[in-house]
Amino acid sequence: MSADAAQALLAREGLDLTACRNAPDPVRCSLEAAYRDAPDAAEVVLSIYDRTGSVTGLEPGRVMDGGWRGEITLVPERPVGKHLRHLRWVAASLEDFTWFFGALQELSADPMGYRFAPLELAFFRSVRRTTPSAYAVGWRVAYNVNGSLHRGEKAVRETMFHEIFHLNDAAHGGWSEAALGPIFDRIVARCTTGGKLSTPCLRPYAPGTTMVRGGTFYAFQPGNGVGEYAAELALRYYREHRQKLKTARVSPRPFKCGPPENAEAWDAMVATFFGGVDLVACP
Ligand SMILES: [Zn+2]
Repeated sequence: MSADAAQALLAREGLDLTACRNAPDPVRCSLEAAYRDAPDAAEVVLSIYDRTGSVTGLEPGRVMDGGWRGEITLVPERPVGKHLRHLRWVAASLEDFTWFFGALQELSADPMGYRFAPLELAFFRSVRRTTPSAYAVGWRVAYNVNGSLHRGEKAVRETMFHEIFHLNDAAHGGWSEAALGPIFDRIVARCTTGGKLSTPCLRPYAPGTTMVRGGTFYAFQPGNGVGEYAAELALRYYREHRQKLKTARVSPRPFKCGPPENAEAWDAMVATFFGGVDLVACP
């Protein structure tokens, strides 16, 4: 990451980073300066940078149009003090992804199409709301320290995997739209009766269990689009393969062993983002 980009990400009132311009590593120097008042956080932030090249900073404040969630005010918030646990969970996530993709790479001659570092990690807080927990754009993941999904290390790891998939989807020229759009549309058409989506009909096609309150599976929630189905599918791949690699057990009901659309979407995902590695076998 360029020194300019890193300093823009770290910028806050009263913080002067000009002295780091001529440092041997201006990014590391800027991180040290930005977290000098919070040594516990500094240690984690520098470790993330040294291991992955990712820079931990701030999401600019703004009012967000949250679609079906309504308007939401976001303010920059550093992951220090009482928010330090969030920073630790993000660090643990990146550590896990490093191991995970290293293990997959050993099984494939093809490069992994899923990039998880380096990233801009931009922290914020939502005002009087607990959504969105995170969002992602242009190799940046924005993370809400008030996010309702961030209940612990596992939840954060899975949210991060989902969000980072969106970045990769975009970097592949909106892959999900082209590759999975027709499959997604077929499922939605099959499960729509009288203009209404049927949740029981969608169940075997849903890669994740997350539901929208008063709606349906997150992967199929109207207004979300095929990108969310794809991100949930990528997460399902991660879950099933992580379990297999860690415990040698496969999930009792692998996603790809459901309706034929599942295997079709799964195979496309595996080929593009996971080096063709598929360790799941149907019973
Ligand atoms: Zn998403």
